[in-house]
Amino acid sequence: MQALTNKETFAMAQAVVPEVRRKPVLKQEIAFLLIHLMPLGAIWTGATFFDWMVCIFLYVFRMFWVTAGYHRYFAHRSYSTSRWFQFVIAFMAQTTAQKGALWWAAHHRHHHRHSDTPADPHSMKIYGFWYSHVGWIVGPDFKETDYKVIGDYAKYPELVWLNKHYLVPPTILAIAVTALGAWVNGGSPLLMFTSAGLSTLFIGFFLSTVILYHGTFSINSIMHKFGTQRYESNDESRNSIWLALLTLGEGWHNNHHYYEVAARQGFFWWEIDITYYILKGLQSVGLIWDLKGVPKHILHSKNKKHAAELRKQYEAQNPRPPVSKEIKPKPAEETIEA
Ligand SMILES: [Zn+2]
Ligand SMILES: [Zn+2]
Repeated sequence: MQALTNKETFAMAQAVVPEVRRKPVLKQEIAFLLIHLMPLGAIWTGATFFDWMVCIFLYVFRMFWVTAGYHRYFAHRSYSTSRWFQFVIAFMAQTTAQKGALWWAAHHRHHHRHSDTPADPHSMKIYGFWYSHVGWIVGPDFKETDYKVIGDYAKYPELVWLNKHYLVPPTILAIAVTALGAWVNGGSPLLMFTSAGLSTLFIGFFLSTVILYHGTFSINSIMHKFGTQRYESNDESRNSIWLALLTLGEGWHNNHHYYEVAARQGFFWWEIDITYYILKGLQSVGLIWDLKGVPKHILHSKNKKHAAELRKQYEAQNPRPPVSKEIKPKPAEETIEA
């Protein structure tokens, strides 16, 4: 083996030196702390069957918008839609109180670009479990949105407005849920500030928001440590059926790191990916389109080198017909397993 030059040795040493990450400032995180404490309000108000149903519904419903919206649409552009529905997607995702869609997606793009290196905002390998789970969010280092990284969406003023006023969607949802609870539990929406409405707010809204936080955060932390690795993705990403069920498909995280633009993260039929099934449904009614699939050479490869070999093999077996200038080339969807 050839000896490394000084320059190469220096570069390798640099690569494993973690960045200095600042500690959270308590007074900046009061809101985040309060959100975690709010469900305890149910000690005084009690909770009805309806409140628990709202909690389960809002967890599942909003997890869909986290994965289909923040993640697959804004961070990875894995499908297309209209300008008005794009705003709906951002609004619905932001009802989870996980900040602006542009903030979320810009940091996530940064994560893929630097996965499990010191520049990764939340590498469990480098910064440990707690930092990758929640420390990077409460710390002061990643508060701003890098609009350059997300320029393709930052050109829409309505998305930038929503990104800056990120508390508008969760506030509207919280008020609506409280009024609904007051009506169902107490018989009138005017009872919002009695235990009839507040119990739905504490359990239906806040508890589901907290569980959603940690469901989403677990992809950043434990999905880079526990599970199986099908593809050599040059990072620590893993696949797990359990996390895939809890997060509506995000647990196929090694698949996703290997080929991030696909709208599906469960690459094979047995890899349950509920978000993808719903996206197919939205496509069938025309709300979204151009769902990006997984090319065959990616699906069956081990790593990118192997994928390139497979691609050549498949192309030799099925040469494409020459494309006439008049006829549009076939959309990529037809050649890939979407
Ligand atoms: Zn991603
Ligand atoms: Zn990841």
